[in-house]
Amino acid sequence: MKFYNTLNHKEEEFKSITSGEVKMYTCGPTVYDTVHIGNLRAYTFNDLLKRTLSVNGYKVLHVMNITDVDDKTIKRSGGEKEKFQALTKEYEAKFWSDLKELNILPPTKITRATQYIDKIASFIEELLRKDFAYKTSDGSVYFSIAKFKNYGQLSQLQNRELKPGARVTQDEYDKENPADFVLWKAWDEDDGEIFWHPSATLPQHGSGQVRTGTSLGKGRPGWSIECSVMSTDSLGDTIDIHTGGIDLVFPHHENEIAQSEAETGHRFVNFWLHNEHLLVDGRKMSKSLKNFYTLADIKEKGFSALDFRYLMLSSHYRSKLNFTWEGLEAARNAREKLKRFIAENQVEGEYCKVCTKKFYSKLNDDLMTPEALAVVWELVKDEKKSIGKKIATLKKWDEEILGLGLFDKFEIPAEIIELAEKRKIARVEKDFELSDKLRTEILNSGWSIEDLENNQYKITK
Ligand code: AMP
Ligand code: ZN
Repeated sequence: MKFYNTLNHKEEEFKSITSGEVKMYTCGPTVYDTVHIGNLRAYTFNDLLKRTLSVNGYKVLHVMNITDVDDKTIKRSGGEKEKFQALTKEYEAKFWSDLKELNILPPTKITRATQYIDKIASFIEELLRKDFAYKTSDGSVYFSIAKFKNYGQLSQLQNRELKPGARVTQDEYDKENPADFVLWKAWDEDDGEIFWHPSATLPQHGSGQVRTGTSLGKGRPGWSIECSVMSTDSLGDTIDIHTGGIDLVFPHHENEIAQSEAETGHRFVNFWLHNEHLLVDGRKMSKSLKNFYTLADIKEKGFSALDFRYLMLSSHYRSKLNFTWEGLEAARNAREKLKRFIAENQVEGEYCKVCTKKFYSKLNDDLMTPEALAVVWELVKDEKKSIGKKIATLKKWDEEILGLGLFDKFEIPAEIIELAEKRKIARVEKDFELSDKLRTEILNSGWSIEDLENNQYKITK
């Protein structure tokens, strides 16, 4: 298997740290609003990567975070705690529901930034102790990029032109202005009720004792430190793969490397994989440009979520993809043709081993999904193969990799999935009253829900 590694700017043969196991971290969404289909491109790519690793025999330990505190979540909630909590919960449930509809397999572990505040505070204290970070007069803490000699390697900062003493407090900024970035933001009026007084238990270096309470005052973490802490805490100092969209390379991932490696003294990530953007009229689909569509928008026009998944498979993850309705329609036609072929030919058989090897070889070559789809069509059109063999092969590929619901008899409505996702969160939080209420709502709509291991569930008619 080979993948393009952004760190070394070339394709490399994949090798995991531990044989048969992959430790993988994905930057999850900021839950201040509904995700758009550009974001969903990132998570579909991620799913294809995971499924490919699985068919190659790897057990994938996949951690994904939920950014439930940052500049955007606070701004959207106007600094009101109740609103903030309701907002992040609401959009997180919507996000999982979108992923479920897209047949994106859930991560092994979900981490929420707000549940890691003490661990984040300990991490920052260590960076202060090791002199990679410093405090400013308002009580904020910044990372000193000049102290980290590899700063800029991932994003290829030209000549590492760092302006000494330049500082940036916002979570997002551009590559033209690299600067010391914020780890802990001291509270200000705009934060309203959203702040923490971290009370982590810290080692007293040299004394073998511990103390409770940090030197960090009332405030909240910066965005990038959240991922460094959640990744190292959940998966260890060095992981195999870290993924995200190309826009995260700078500053987010560059900063994650600096923080993590400064803290642990070890390499943070072996393989960095980034997906290119979904565009609209040649520009990145984004909330700020207001040129975005959500999954609900495309369903409103009569498309299925899985038509969108087909569209994602039809282009390589490292190519820019211009979203058009004509493109989505072509994807729908192709998917429907496959579904029809299957529905009209319910014949049993053995799957084709030679074709499967060819199909996998395309995925193992840096996830060449357009070529893998070409193998699908080659199989369907092959006059020398029996129908039974074709159907059995398509079933295997659809279950393992494609996830296009080609064998589904019916599609579960988004509203039902959303209720189920809300119920899942309620169950994790042991709010059984709410969870029972949601189950009744699902039953009253003519569907049933069965609980499986690890908070997973199955919805049936
Ligand atoms: P965010 O919630 O903004 O952190 O974004 C979640 C994920 O979506 C990140 O991996 C982003 O890099 C990715 N992303 C954002 N916009 C796009 C886009 N237009 N196309 C593809 N991926 C995107
Ligand atoms: Zn991240």
